[in-house]
Amino acid sequence: MPELPEVETIARTLAPQVVGSAITSVQVLHSASLAAGAGLLPALAEARIRQVTRRGKLLVLCLEHDRDAAPVPVPGLPPASLYLVFHLKMTGSFFVHPPGTAALKHTRLIFDLGKDGSENTLARGRLFFDDIRAFGYCRVMLPKDFAAWNFFTSLGLEPLDAGNEAVAQALGRGGGNIKAALLDQRRLAGIGNIYADESLFQAKIAPQAKTSALSRNALLRLAVALKAVLKQSVAECGSSIRNYRDAAGNVGSFQNNFMVYGRKGEKCRICGTALLRSTVAGRTTVHCPRCQKAP
Ligand SMILES: [Zn+2]
Repeated sequence: MPELPEVETIARTLAPQVVGSAITSVQVLHSASLAAGAGLLPALAEARIRQVTRRGKLLVLCLEHDRDAAPVPVPGLPPASLYLVFHLKMTGSFFVHPPGTAALKHTRLIFDLGKDGSENTLARGRLFFDDIRAFGYCRVMLPKDFAAWNFFTSLGLEPLDAGNEAVAQALGRGGGNIKAALLDQRRLAGIGNIYADESLFQAKIAPQAKTSALSRNALLRLAVALKAVLKQSVAECGSSIRNYRDAAGNVGSFQNNFMVYGRKGEKCRICGTALLRSTVAGRTTVHCPRCQKAP
């Protein structure tokens, strides 16, 4: 599924296409794709898009829906009077089409965009939320609902905003193995299978290693590796696996840098040993048995 670098890339490519537009109508083509806020659709259909941002793997559109409703900040996010929040899960994606474009086979939600009545007006169009597998969802929320949403309030640190020490501490807390710790959104937000496996390889740590067995230095090494891998992927517009495209329709290129993810049986790029596939933390995991020996 799209992880931190992919959702960040989508937010960055979507923003210039939609910020400054007003939503003029909303079509729900697949009811399960709207997980919360059906009652707010009338408010949404007259809201203006002020900002597009990200928290963990959530893509967040910050809206202004009523001149009388003062924008309220939700912790860690820009203020808004209404939020449109997406979790893309496996295959969620966005594209802005010209006005009048008909729904595609996997289009789940359509947001018609128009002038926002101010001078800051962009071209009109239709924002499609497409989702082949249909596991993704959208929630329309008032700031108070967003701030009280358990999934959101339990999200851990943003790894690229937190210091190395804080990231290392978040990973080292509690029991379990280090791969599970990396995937735990309550410790760090935004990491999935790709960046867990790639950062463990860079830090030379076995994915099965118990967090309690890892030294402070090993955890710090992992924090540094994780941030470096995420930063490089953001710089390369994410990893294109499955159907991933950014909101401008472009592919990312970080998949060309994969050292282990998706490479089971292939030779380690460092030592030539065949990479092993196993199941760790319930997820397919690939690692090099020779390079990744730490604790
Ligand atoms: Zn190796």
